[in-house]
Amino acid sequence: MDDCIFCKIIKKEIPANIVYEDEEILAFRDINPVAPVHILVIPKKHIESILELKKEDEVLVGKIYTVINKIAEQEKIDKNGFRIIVNCGEDGGQEVKHLHFHLIGGKKLGIKICD
Ligand code: AMP
Ligand code: ZN
Repeated sequence: MDDCIFCKIIKKEIPANIVYEDEEILAFRDINPVAPVHILVIPKKHIESILELKKEDEVLVGKIYTVINKIAEQEKIDKNGFRIIVNCGEDGGQEVKHLHFHLIGGKKLGIKICD
């Protein structure tokens, strides 16, 4: 996807603070963090949103969760806990149309998950 900002990060056309990378998954620090740890975990395959997931992507999504597990240890937020958020569409507040998992932690998060 030529005009996708996250695809550009994957192709190293624009810089990002990368914390994890393998053949299928990339994770980098959010440019506008809402907590001490705010990392975006994305598939390298351009998938617009959770609604575009296909049966063949099930293993990939499972792997994203185990990568999150690894990063949580790396960032030392595994003991105290964290939150994973996936926004979808207009009402969900999805700004970037490339599937991404927000990994947020490093402080006690508010109890509200929406307002
Ligand atoms: P969402 O609202 O779920 O689509 O979240 C998109 C996230 O991407 C926001 O938290 C932005 O701060 C973040 N973001 C946008 N551009 C960049 C970038 N170039 N590098 C890192 N994070 C970004
Ligand atoms: Zn993309």
